[in-house]
Amino acid sequence: PEVRIDVVTIFPDYLAALDLSLVGKARRAGLLDLRVHDLRDWTTDRHRTVDDTPFGGGAGMVMRPDVWGRALDDLLPTAPDPAVRLVVPTPSGRVFTQRGAEELASAEHLVVACGRYEGIDARVVERYRAEGHPVDELSIGDYVLNGGEVAALVMVEAVGRLLPGVVGNPQSLVEESHGAAGLLEYPVYTKPPSWQGLEVPDVLLSGHHARIERWRRDRALERTARRRPDLVDALDAEALDARDREV
Ligand code: SAM
Repeated sequence: PEVRIDVVTIFPDYLAALDLSLVGKARRAGLLDLRVHDLRDWTTDRHRTVDDTPFGGGAGMVMRPDVWGRALDDLLPTAPDPAVRLVVPTPSGRVFTQRGAEELASAEHLVVACGRYEGIDARVVERYRAEGHPVDELSIGDYVLNGGEVAALVMVEAVGRLLPGVVGNPQSLVEESHGAAGLLEYPVYTKPPSWQGLEVPDVLLSGHHARIERWRRDRALERTARRRPDLVDALDAEALDARDREV
C-alpha cells in the first residue's frame, strides 16, 4: 500500500534531498507518493506574504493562519479521517521517536506543515484539532532549528524506511537500535578482519551462531547501560533472562 506525504514549506528546494537514496527509490518505485508544496502558492497579495508581527509584541514574525488555512484545507480531507494526519514540527512538541515513526508509517496520508520564524499562529493547530483531524505536534529533539524543513526530512526518512519494500531486507529493521529489543545496537564489523592492528572479535569469525548471538546481546546490553541508562530503566523485566542480568 502506497503512502502519500505532502510537505508544505516556503523553501521547497530544502526537500530536494528526498529524491536521493532509499526515499528517492521508494518514490520512483511508487511506494511513496511525496509532494512538496510552496506555501506562497496560497497567498493572495502581490508580495506573497506568509507572516506578520506577533500580537502582544516581542521579537520575530509569526506565520499567518489564513494562508496556512487555505493550504491545509486544500490538502486535508474535508471530513476528518483517522488515516490522514496533520504533522506540525515544533520544538515544543512531543519528541519524535522510533515509535512515533511507526505510528506515522501506519497512516495513509501525512500532511507536514513546516514553520519558519517564530512558528505558526496557534489557531491553525487549534482549528484542525477541534474539527477532529489527527494532529501531531512533534519535536525532533531538544534544540531549536530555523524551520521545520530539516525536521520534515528527518520524519520522511524515518517513516519512509519503514514502508514495506523500501529497505531491502526487513530483518535489518528488526535488529537495529530503538527496535523491538529496546536496546541500542551492538557494534558491527566487516572486512578486513585485521585493520591497523585492530582485530574483529574472534567470536564473530567463529561461525558459532548461538555464541555470536549471545555476544551481540551482551554488547547491546553493555552499550545501552553505559550510554542510555534511561532505555535500560524502560526495559520490560520479563524480556530479560538470567544471563542478561549478569551483563
Ligand atoms: N519560537 C518557537 C519556539 O520557541 O517554540 C521556535 C520557532 S523555530 C525558530 C521555527 C520553526 O522551526 C518551528 O516553527 C518549527 O517548524 C521548526 N523547528 C525548530 N526546532 C524544531 C525542533 N526541535 N523540532 C521540530 N521542528 C523544529
